[in-house]
Amino acid sequence: MEQNSEEQRTLKLTEFVTVSDLSNMMDVPVNEVIATCMSIGMMVGINQRLDAETINIVAEEFGFQTEFVSADLVEAIAPEEDNEEDLVSRPPIVTVMGHVDHGKTSLLDRIRNTNVIEGEAGGITQHIGAYGLKLPSGRRITFLDTPGHEAFTAMRARGAKMTDIAIIIVAADDDVMPQTVEAINHASAAGVPMVFAINKIDKPAANPEKIKEQLANMNYLVEDWGGKYQSQEISAKKGMNITELLEKVLLEADLLELKANPNRRAIGSIVESSLDKGRGYVSTVMVQNGTLNMGDIVLAGTCHGRIKAMFNERNQRVTKAGPSEPVLILGLNGAPAAGDTFNVLETEQEAREIATRREQLQREQGLRMHKILTLEDISRRRAIGNFQELNLIIKGDVDGSVEALSDSLIRLSTEEIQVNVIHKAVGQISESDVVLAAASSAIIIGFQVRPSTAARKQAEADGVEIRTYSIIYDTIEDIKSAMEGMLSPEIREEVTGTLEVLQTFKITKVGTIAGCMVKEGKVRRTSKVRLIRDGIVVHTGELGSLKRFKDDAKEVVAGLECGLNLAHSNDIQEGDIIEAFDEIEIKKTL
Ligand code: GDP
Repeated sequence: MEQNSEEQRTLKLTEFVTVSDLSNMMDVPVNEVIATCMSIGMMVGINQRLDAETINIVAEEFGFQTEFVSADLVEAIAPEEDNEEDLVSRPPIVTVMGHVDHGKTSLLDRIRNTNVIEGEAGGITQHIGAYGLKLPSGRRITFLDTPGHEAFTAMRARGAKMTDIAIIIVAADDDVMPQTVEAINHASAAGVPMVFAINKIDKPAANPEKIKEQLANMNYLVEDWGGKYQSQEISAKKGMNITELLEKVLLEADLLELKANPNRRAIGSIVESSLDKGRGYVSTVMVQNGTLNMGDIVLAGTCHGRIKAMFNERNQRVTKAGPSEPVLILGLNGAPAAGDTFNVLETEQEAREIATRREQLQREQGLRMHKILTLEDISRRRAIGNFQELNLIIKGDVDGSVEALSDSLIRLSTEEIQVNVIHKAVGQISESDVVLAAASSAIIIGFQVRPSTAARKQAEADGVEIRTYSIIYDTIEDIKSAMEGMLSPEIREEVTGTLEVLQTFKITKVGTIAGCMVKEGKVRRTSKVRLIRDGIVVHTGELGSLKRFKDDAKEVVAGLECGLNLAHSNDIQEGDIIEAFDEIEIKKTL
């Protein structure tokens, strides 16, 4: 009897159920649920979806335990614990990142061609996204060929931590470039140690000291400058100092004491997957622990299957792959996503069942799985008392304001809440920023800049919040009040439409008139407008006029052309984008 009532007090649910669903499940009035949310500093509406943490708190308040179905699914594959004495050291998994043209490909090619595993004929003929090397010393390194920083972080966003060490390559005849900074930020956000490869030292214009100085200015002090980061001057093209570089990577690996247990079922991550004409679905997997064998039953994401064949990077058939070894496998019934975890299961039936349940859940949860970390959430979590970090990505129009903003925001950190600026740069908000934000639960702050269309879409898909500001003071105040847990967005801007300037005409007495096409939404005569050129806000103000053909128009909607001028500016050019927005008041009610 008692057990029965115990069971009744347990709610089986998925994360992101609505307030009203939750009250129904608990059979309590919805007002009471809302009141409970309020008591933990959260203003919610009936249809608002709640995250696991809040659901737990609310449920507990009404005397319920919770059991999350998705969590249940992960637990379906019980993690095997390894005994200390079963662990042996494993090779490091290394990724090379850097600015375009700084020599990433040349370095990887050089490493691949000169360090073919000794005693075996032939080079690496097959591209499988990863490969192992054996150095003359007998030690091994596994290289992961991630196509770019985005991929690196996209993988991390899926929960994969495949890379142990990052080589950051910088050309000595160039500077630390935006993508170098990005690479450094991506690696350090992932907590991956870095070794700097200063490349192209064969060039007469090479100036490695300048690179070291630039790194020092970013607070990355290399060893010969008294810092903790190892660096190696190399020439990927001439093959100079490559062994030295790899030795430094190994030194870094020694510090990490990487270990794994080869005598257990394999677990690891998907590097890449594709559909091959002749062979069906092929996936490169990186074994992270255990040993993967021919005939194993593999489950990865919603795909599963028995391994029919395995190949190494030299296109040779192999029958097993141990820790840190990449292999290409055949036999899955689909193409799992890069970064998905794979497990080996006992029976095909078990694998199929979990795969089906995952698929179902994926379908059911669809949009619900979006975890949008908004400023409001942060103030709420803060109120609950377990939120300690606010990660920010800052993009701005000029270096000065990015620096100023970043410094001011970091200074807002208190004992309870740490503000981290994980990436800052000048320029438009890019897809890569959004990917980084998603992986690091960060909020993107755009100061006088806007996201590109692709970035905006990506942000919507990933549930990343982008906040744009035009005044440093406002930005700081907003973040500050969010941190103080009392954010009340009295006035919010709502973008109602975007227009593209097709042509401009100069008319005496009136000024510059722009012929525009409304691309999205609508523009009203009373709209406030922002003029954006190459992703940077150049003017904010009001419209001077809005016309359809010769007539004054009240509003013009998407797909139509219109003529307009700005109230206090004539600086308007062909190709500019005009953003029309309203200032709306949001009342603090439920
Ligand atoms: P990635 O874009 O970072 O992959 O750069 P690549 O490896 O494609 O190299 C870009 C250019 O720099 C190519 O023309 C290479 O030949 C050249 N390059 C790469 N490494 C070196 C080097 O050590 N010395 C010189 N002189 N040129 C190099």
